[in-house]
Amino acid sequence: MDELPLVVVAVERAVDRSPDGLTYALPRELARLPDGARVEVPLGRGETPTAGWIVRRIAAGEDIGIPREKIKPILGVDPSGVVLPGELMQFARWISGYYACPIGMTLASILPAAVRKAIGRVERTLVDLAPTPPTAVKITKRQQQALDVLATLPRPIEIADLAEAAGYSSVEPLKRLIASGHLVATKKTSFEAGFIARAGNIAPAPEPTAEQSAAIAAISRDFGQFAQHLIFGVTGSGKTEIYIRLLEECVRRGKRAILLVPEISLTPQTVGRIAARLVHAKVAVLHSGLTDAQRNQQWQLLAEGGADVVVGARSALFAPIPDDSLGLIVVDEEHEPGYKQDSAPRYHGRDAAIRRAQIAKCPVVLGSATPSLESWMNAVERKISTLHRLTKRAPGLNVPKVTVVDFGAERREIRDRRVNLIGPTLRESMEKTLREGGQVLLLLNRRGYANYIACSDQRCEWMLTCTDCDAGMVCHVDAAGNARKSFVRCHHCLAETLLPKQCPDCGKPVTVFGLGTQRVEEELTRLFPSLIEGETLLRVDGDTMQTAAHFHDALERFGKGEVKVLMGTQMIAKGLDFPNVRLVGVVSADTALALPDFRAAERTFQLVSQVSGRAGRGANPGRAVIQSFEPDTPAIRLAASHEFERFAAQELADRKEFGLPPYRRLARLILRHPGETECANRSAALAQAIRGFAGAVEVRGPSVCPIARIAGKYRRQIELLSDSAVEISRVLAEARSQGLLKLGEELAVDVDPISAV
Ligand code: ADP
Ligand code: ZN
Ligand code: ZN
Repeated sequence: MDELPLVVVAVERAVDRSPDGLTYALPRELARLPDGARVEVPLGRGETPTAGWIVRRIAAGEDIGIPREKIKPILGVDPSGVVLPGELMQFARWISGYYACPIGMTLASILPAAVRKAIGRVERTLVDLAPTPPTAVKITKRQQQALDVLATLPRPIEIADLAEAAGYSSVEPLKRLIASGHLVATKKTSFEAGFIARAGNIAPAPEPTAEQSAAIAAISRDFGQFAQHLIFGVTGSGKTEIYIRLLEECVRRGKRAILLVPEISLTPQTVGRIAARLVHAKVAVLHSGLTDAQRNQQWQLLAEGGADVVVGARSALFAPIPDDSLGLIVVDEEHEPGYKQDSAPRYHGRDAAIRRAQIAKCPVVLGSATPSLESWMNAVERKISTLHRLTKRAPGLNVPKVTVVDFGAERREIRDRRVNLIGPTLRESMEKTLREGGQVLLLLNRRGYANYIACSDQRCEWMLTCTDCDAGMVCHVDAAGNARKSFVRCHHCLAETLLPKQCPDCGKPVTVFGLGTQRVEEELTRLFPSLIEGETLLRVDGDTMQTAAHFHDALERFGKGEVKVLMGTQMIAKGLDFPNVRLVGVVSADTALALPDFRAAERTFQLVSQVSGRAGRGANPGRAVIQSFEPDTPAIRLAASHEFERFAAQELADRKEFGLPPYRRLARLILRHPGETECANRSAALAQAIRGFAGAVEVRGPSVCPIARIAGKYRRQIELLSDSAVEISRVLAEARSQGLLKLGEELAVDVDPISAV
């Protein structure tokens, strides 16, 4: 008897023993199943049916390490019928290896649940007249009438529609006509979903500037091969215009493209603008605001090759674009931390985009007003990507004038004790802007009301911390703004309690201080009562904007001018393009500086530049007012004077001196355990084991994480550092094959981490 062909199947449940997959036999009736097909296999002693993916065929004579008779056959194909393209499988294997995440877990995470569950899939039966109907079988008069009706209709037609046209109340009589051979039936699968709104005013295409044309020409020359490009241009310098032209060109050449944008700027505004311009292309979108049915529909459209361009957040990198058809990847705002996924596989969308482009042999274009130091170094020092500078804002746009306010000095002059957050400079600028009919964006990068809750007696050192985390709690006022009904929330484990009135140690009253968007809102209502009366102030943060729809709605009201002042967290700092914003205020530029992170200065620079760039996008000049207790910090000063290159040079010199990324590669292993000793022992043992094969890779720690405990679990970290990413991958691979890296509740592996907590 012929032996059944063997395949490697990546089981979705993390199987630590064989992170690359398990061996199964393909039953004869499934012999044609391609790699990338989702299947069901029996797993373990109980032979539990488990989802998995065919990763590759095993060649005849290949050593498989287990006796042939122990190999079980695959149970069947998965009902979703999903088959991933080969390039996507290759990409998944890279993600799995580089980010040290089992292949099955990686594949499970890249397939949207909506696709797996076939949400919105509808099977239809279409009918047509049989070309040669049987003559021997008698049919009723009514049935003959139905056939006559069908002859007059466009065919094939859905069976239910024919039933209606023929006056039947059910499809049963028609089914009998199929059985008798008078009708031929075909099945058709479609994916139903509500219409995906694409607002967007169709703006005429502007004539590219010389700088834009040069970038477009240079990148276009690389179509058809892998190449990296970085577009560095201040906000409003016309980067998006370049993307649009490149996407058009890519589609014109018969290829498909991916445009990644940060989740937060995936507004109907962005998508609408792009879709409106790409009139000759079919544009699919993938983002968290879609319903499940819509997501599945967009995914299926892409898989069938029915879309030319996909616009989406980082997960759009996993769009099932058919092999050999991807021609361009663009990553907008490539410096955005939101591109990093914070659960396994912890990939970085920008870095992964580069790899995906390499696999597809196409160019990848990164764009930013404040490039990450990684990308900047690749362009300026290593010259592995081509740098394109856009030195001017697009015609008709002004460079905003940025004023840094020494807030410590200003605060001493404030008379009204209840006003602590909006200084005179910012207040006067707001008054002037509103009087002149302009709009204002006001940013504070912290939700809630106040972030310190402590005893009012300075001699008593009591401060409210979360019982389950080593962190302070944040005071929130209730939805009606009633400060007395306040509650406190831990922003790490989301635990909530009521705000205590008295200090548990000494009984004195409790005070709350510090910063939060709710408190800014409260002060604004005092300073500008007319805003409240006219309902023209809107707060936008994770608390008020619980769904994407809320956020889109808020932006629409702001765009129409109904809202005059939009205040909120970094949700409003990114990518918004509202011509009437004449003033941007940053309540405190210092929130990022306090982070225990070597990227604190970089983040501060980005925040100040990005948010300032929201001003002056229309005909009127824009202004930004930045309040800071440390106004002389280089990151703030250089951002205010629009000197990215100087900032980058200084910051890179520091990173080099201290041996930090991007000069060295970093991987973080985070161990978590409810027992402190257990956590310490396990991390010490792991570090020791890794040192045994680390070679030239530096192994630091274990050390206590900056937040030592979250949700009742102690946290320690081990850091791997090396000049070479390949060396770090080697050490991680070795640790995996020794069974040391079982990802889950107790261990996270973060390669190229962007967070240090
Ligand atoms: P960025 O993506 O760098 O922030 P955009 O591409 O959004 O910049 O351009 C900012 C504004 O300038 C947009 O309204 C855009 O339509 C306009 N614009 C871009 N390029 C040109 C050009 N060459 N001529 C005139 N207007 C332009
Ligand atoms: Zn907590
Ligand atoms: Zn006290």
